[in-house]
Amino acid sequence: MRISDDRYSRDRARLDIAMQFIRHEARTRTIRLWTGLSDDRIRKLYRSYLQGGGRGLTRHRGKSPQQAAFFVRTARLRHEASALAALCCLAGVLESGHEPGCTPARAHGVAPVGIGRAAWLCQAYEGYRALLEAPAIGFEHAVLLVNALARGNELRLGACPACGALLVVDALALRAVRCAVCLPDPHEQETACAGTRRAGGRAPALGLRPRRQPAARARGG
Ligand SMILES: [Zn+2]
Repeated sequence: MRISDDRYSRDRARLDIAMQFIRHEARTRTIRLWTGLSDDRIRKLYRSYLQGGGRGLTRHRGKSPQQAAFFVRTARLRHEASALAALCCLAGVLESGHEPGCTPARAHGVAPVGIGRAAWLCQAYEGYRALLEAPAIGFEHAVLLVNALARGNELRLGACPACGALLVVDALALRAVRCAVCLPDPHEQETACAGTRRAGGRAPALGLRPRRQPAARARGG
């Protein structure tokens, strides 16, 4: 009895999280990887959602986004990716408390990997959307961000050399990058400000500050 109760609870949690992924317009493959549900069950869940009066959703086909460089393409995207990464640290998708900011929970084997992590990702992403009126990062890109930070070969978490705010940075970048607030370049500053204006004039202001100043020395300034 106990075993079947546990199994029922786990199954129920998986379905709840899959529903959240569906509402965020995640692809079937993403839902399968994060919840462990079969494609068939996901399709049935999607149909029951629509039959239950759920709003029409765009069902995205094809591959999930793969270009991690997307997050450092503009000052606005870097700013939003950094805010989302900070929320992922707070939610537990990425583990905080390690220099220079957060590291993937998976790498340390501390946080459970699986349905709990999927639920935390939803929490972090919903927090990010609540902060911005016109968020530039879709859910599939949020998944890509978390995965890219977990791999660490293209993106990593760093800190603004001027104020210490947590930043998503190119893992191979030689030059230290400043946050949107500390950007010295007027053009980049304008881009960041425009992004903030488009986002409703509210900067996320989610710079998680590491305990020590970041390693500008290691990057050669
Ligand atoms: Zn800064």
